[in-house]
Amino acid sequence: MRYFSASRILFCVLAIFAALLLETASPAFADAGFRNWVKQFRSVALKSGVSARVYDDVFRVFTAPDSETVAKLGGQAEFNLKIWDYLDSAVSEAQVRNGQAMRVQYSRELDKIERRFGVDRDVVLAVWGIETRYGTRMGDHNVIHALATLAYAAPRRKAFWRSELINALKIVQAGHIRAAAMNGSWAGAMGHTQFMPSSWKGYAADYDNDGKKDIWTSVPDALASTANYLSRHGWQAHKTWGYEVKLPSGFNVKLEGKDGITLGKWQAMGVRRINGGGFPRPGDRAVLKLPSGRNGPAFLMLKNFYVIKRYNNADAYALAVGHLADRIAGYGPIRTAWPRGYVPLDEAGRMEVQTILKRLGYYDGEVDGAIGSGSREAIEKWQRANGIDPDGFPSQKLLANLRKT
Ligand code: CA
Repeated sequence: MRYFSASRILFCVLAIFAALLLETASPAFADAGFRNWVKQFRSVALKSGVSARVYDDVFRVFTAPDSETVAKLGGQAEFNLKIWDYLDSAVSEAQVRNGQAMRVQYSRELDKIERRFGVDRDVVLAVWGIETRYGTRMGDHNVIHALATLAYAAPRRKAFWRSELINALKIVQAGHIRAAAMNGSWAGAMGHTQFMPSSWKGYAADYDNDGKKDIWTSVPDALASTANYLSRHGWQAHKTWGYEVKLPSGFNVKLEGKDGITLGKWQAMGVRRINGGGFPRPGDRAVLKLPSGRNGPAFLMLKNFYVIKRYNNADAYALAVGHLADRIAGYGPIRTAWPRGYVPLDEAGRMEVQTILKRLGYYDGEVDGAIGSGSREAIEKWQRANGIDPDGFPSQKLLANLRKT
C-alpha cells in the first residue's frame, strides 16, 4: 500500500517534521485520504446508531491518522522475549510490592468485588498489574483516534476495527467517558484493564452505581470489570489456577498438554507439588505444561488457568497472571530454575546493570530492574562495542564486566 510506505519514510527519516505536520495539522496539511474516509464512514456509523452530534464532535479534532498507530502497523519487529525474561519483568519484585500496596489501598472495594463476582482479589490485582502496571501504563493514545486509524489504514481485519470504532463511539454517546479522556493503547485496548470496546460492551461493570462504567478513571469500576470478565468466562471461586510440580525421573513428558487427567491420577503417576503438599481436590482435571521443555519448571494447570487465557490467549500471559497473584498473596517465587543458559541477577543486580549502562550512554529507559527489549538492546550494544559476544543476557558475568568500566 502506497500510504504505508510513504508514511513509513516520513516517520523514519523525518520523524520530527512529520510529527509537527500532523500535530499542528492546519486543514491544508491534514491527511486528505483520512478526512475523506471519516466523511464516508459517517453514514455507516449513523446507521449503526451513532448520533451525528457525537460523530461530528469527535472527529472535529482528528484530521489525520494517529501517527504511532500507523508506525506500528508498518510491522515493527516485536522483541522476542524468552518466557523467563517475560516473567522477570511481569512478576518483578516491584510488581509484587505494588500489588500488595494496592491490595491494602483497595481492600474495601476488593471485599465487595470478591463477594459480588466470586473472583479472588489477587487474580484481579494481578491482571491489573500485568495489563497496565496498576494503571500507570494505560497507553497515551486516544482510542477513537487509534481505532479510526486502524479502520482506515489497517491492511487486514477492517471489519473488526470498524465495529470496535462504532462500539467506542457508542460508549462516548452513552456518557460513560468523554471522548477526549478515552485513553488506551495504539490498538484500542482501553483504560486500567485494557478492554477492547467490544469487551467493554460485554463485561464492563459499574462498581459504584453512578451509571458509568468508567474503566479509565475509576479503579473500582476497572477492577469490578476484570472480575466480571473472569467470572463470566467460568472462574471457579476459591480455587487456584495451577501448581508448580516436580516430575518423577524418567517421566513421560509426552503427557504434556493432554486433557482429562485428574490431579489424583497425576499424583498416582508420581507427580508432586513442588512444596511437598498434597492436591486438595484430587478429582479436578489438570493439564501438564512445561513452558521451557523438560529442563525447566513444570506446572499442572487447572480450569482457572484457561479462564485467565480468555483475557489474553497466551500461556506465558496466564502463567504470569497466576504467578503474580500468588506472589501478591504472599507465596514464594517459582522454585525450579529456568534453562536460561546464564546465571541470572537479582533485582538489585539488574538495576545496577541498567544504572551502569545509563551512565555509559547505552540505555535511556527507566532503572526498574525489568529487563525488557530496551535493556536487552542496550546490553547487546555495549557487548558489541566491547568485543563481547552480544547475547543480551542480564547475567552475573555481564555485571562483573560492567563493574570494571
Ligand atoms: Ca462507576
